[in-house]
Amino acid sequence: DHKSIPLARSAPDKLLGGLLPEGFDEKSCRSRYESSLYRRNPGRRPSPHLVARLRMHEELQRRCGPNTESYNRAVQRLRDGGGKGVAADAHAPDDEQCKYLVSISYRGLGNRILAAASAFLYAVLTGRVLLVDRSNEMDELFCEPFPGTTWMLPRDFPLATSYANFSADTAESYGNMLKNRVLRSTDGSDVPAAQLPAFAYLHLDHDYGDDDKMFFCDDDQRLLSNIQWLVMRTDTYIVPSLFLVTMFQEELDALFPERDAVFHHLGRYLFHPANHVWGLVARYYRAYLAPARQLVGIQVRVFDHRQAKWPHVVLDQIMSCASKEKLLPEVLDAVEDTATPPTTTPGGNNSKAILITSLRRWFYERIKAMYWERATATGEDVSVHQPSHEKYQHFGEKSHDGKAWAEMYLLSLCDVLVTSGWSTFGYVAQGLGGLRPWVMYKPTNITAVPDPPCGRDVSTEPCFHSPPFYDCKMKRGVDTGTILPHVRHCDDVSWGLKLV
Ligand code: GDP
Repeated sequence: DHKSIPLARSAPDKLLGGLLPEGFDEKSCRSRYESSLYRRNPGRRPSPHLVARLRMHEELQRRCGPNTESYNRAVQRLRDGGGKGVAADAHAPDDEQCKYLVSISYRGLGNRILAAASAFLYAVLTGRVLLVDRSNEMDELFCEPFPGTTWMLPRDFPLATSYANFSADTAESYGNMLKNRVLRSTDGSDVPAAQLPAFAYLHLDHDYGDDDKMFFCDDDQRLLSNIQWLVMRTDTYIVPSLFLVTMFQEELDALFPERDAVFHHLGRYLFHPANHVWGLVARYYRAYLAPARQLVGIQVRVFDHRQAKWPHVVLDQIMSCASKEKLLPEVLDAVEDTATPPTTTPGGNNSKAILITSLRRWFYERIKAMYWERATATGEDVSVHQPSHEKYQHFGEKSHDGKAWAEMYLLSLCDVLVTSGWSTFGYVAQGLGGLRPWVMYKPTNITAVPDPPCGRDVSTEPCFHSPPFYDCKMKRGVDTGTILPHVRHCDDVSWGLKLV
């Protein structure tokens, strides 16, 4: 049963159980403290340990972040080519303990959000300052998460001109430095500091190689902990595999006693729509969604261009999922319709609103026509809404990503969610909302609806699409989806990993 009270609940907890810090200027980022007014589902409570760690991390970001002496010194060392590790430098003043993680932003917005959340958790676990590459509007779509400092990488950062082109072939990648014996992970912290590079590039992208994947091993983490600057590129949610690194496990257990809510907390902590995006969210919600008793979000992402030619199969999949799982009322055929007396009086609230997000308009038009032309078997009124239809994925266009972000956020405000498997866009929405969606599987035959058309996700967590399959202790391949009960394979991407 999804009965809930729209908007204006009594005294919503605007700090989300201590997840959010106090003291920000409310007007500069309305979404931060207003969003709790729009969420029908109050979400999970963060653990006291997570709350304490976040406050500590904010302090670290202020102490070592841009515009501090420590940051300037660390950047200078990077310019000089390093040759000086962190831990081994016994005479270093305190501020030299500052270590940094730069997160490169690329690909679609969903990918970028999952990448930044992953980088943030890794930064917290390793005591590093997180600095985010500002390209692709990362500086315009989100508010600042850390009070009194900035998480945006300064524009004059020495590697800024080169890191955009870092790839699997970059000589400074951790994998290549291992391969070329520039570094040896078994050396651990015994490596003389003078021999450590100033920075290492962590290539954790879908095309990463076996040496890059050593990142997920304990010995390698010990070695990396002595390198002051790390630059990370990923397009996915690497968190499930961090749960398999032994040295992080105790801390992760304390931070997240509920492992199925990791992104839920990280996402609500980090990603607050900037005011122009919040305007899109709030106005749309109030005008179209707030009046409904129940909100059903349907995220339609068609990856296969051949499938685009068979939109009615996708529509059938949506409707058969909704019908099988009783998410939407059935419509009566025309004959029954005339026989059924109206069950609703004007002004009564027996309504459902469907929020559709899709690059195309066609699904929306069909579903809307269906609920206008026919009566529902339950007597409920169903309204259908779609904020935008951008036709195709535009890269690097301003208003485009603002709309995408607003739509992800609106989906997260729904009571019930149907998503398209494989899509990071849907993962972000389900995670922020703390919702276990019904996931529509990718069809193997594009001309037929998969059977079953959808299934209930096992958790609210995103799926890590390209995990390593390696046992660091045994030094051989292993199915990493069977090692821990809370790190399992995903339903939508069978080789992927997710937290449950
Ligand atoms: P994924 O490709 O589904 O994993 O999601 P991403 O968010 O990483 O990349 C898809 C991009 O296409 C989004 O960031 C949007 O720019 C655009 N896009 C895809 N679906 C939608 C949609 O339903 N609405 C809007 N506004 N944009 C979308």
